Amino acid sequence: MQLKDVAVLITGGGSGLGAATARAMAAKGAKIGVIDQSKENAEKVAAEVKGIALHADVTSEEQIKAAIAKAEAAHGVARVLMNCAGIGGSQRIVGRDGVYPLEKFARIINVNLIGTFNCLRLFAERLVTIEPVGEERGVIINTASVAAYEGQIGQIAYSASKGGVVGLTLPAARDLASQKIRVNTIAPGLFFTPLLMGLNEEARKSLGAQVPHPSRLGDAAEYGMLAVHIVENPMLNGETIRLDGAIRMAP
Ligand code: NAD
Repeated sequence: MQLKDVAVLITGGGSGLGAATARAMAAKGAKIGVIDQSKENAEKVAAEVKGIALHADVTSEEQIKAAIAKAEAAHGVARVLMNCAGIGGSQRIVGRDGVYPLEKFARIINVNLIGTFNCLRLFAERLVTIEPVGEERGVIINTASVAAYEGQIGQIAYSASKGGVVGLTLPAARDLASQKIRVNTIAPGLFFTPLLMGLNEEARKSLGAQVPHPSRLGDAAEYGMLAVHIVENPMLNGETIRLDGAIRMAP
């Protein structure tokens, strides 16, 4: 699918990898709907890419349905969904802070995994009612993480949530294939986004040095480049692509 004049929805589009994807797709002529729970960030990025801001929480059925309808009124039915919204959170199972709280585990799973599925299903629900353009109706891209494959201490909920996103990719692609909708996932390694803003330059350099090549943190624009390619390449389906400079992390 070519992105020119195509309506796109990007969750977590108000920051980091989502914002970079908004810029990359807008540069290809797409009409961008920035979905974010941060109203301020959604508005900032939407203004930059001449799109619209959609203030919504990915875990809410009501809010995501409303965001899809609002975007449609402005841009027509969206044919691309980019799921980027996500949260982190580190804690040991039993540590100085006591036992890992179930509520914290559930919150991370809820945003990263259930939120991704919530947007995927509501986007697909609308998309199946319209006619395909050429070979396809639409494209869905999810965001996992290399944490889906790694086992870093403290990252138990995050890894489980991102493993879930990898796990839903192929069954979703096979399920929606009959509707001419493709589903793929990107599993990023270490990217320089607001998630890492707390780190000073030295810490960022030493983190980047763990990347075999290029020996640096990823640039969010490189994430946007892959997202564009996935939309444009009709043969790419059911796949999770690591975008990580060949990094394999120590525990
Ligand atoms: P970020 O914090 O810069 O952006 C995430 C955005 O998601 C924020 O704008 C936030 O407001 C939004 N968001 C969070 N919860 C939401 C919710 N419930 N509803 C709607 N919006 C919500 O982070 P980022 O680095 O751009 O990460 C984007 C995605 O990439 C996340 O899923 C993250 O887990 C994943 N990821 C990032 C890296 C990295 O190195 N930056 C590595 C691996 C995976």
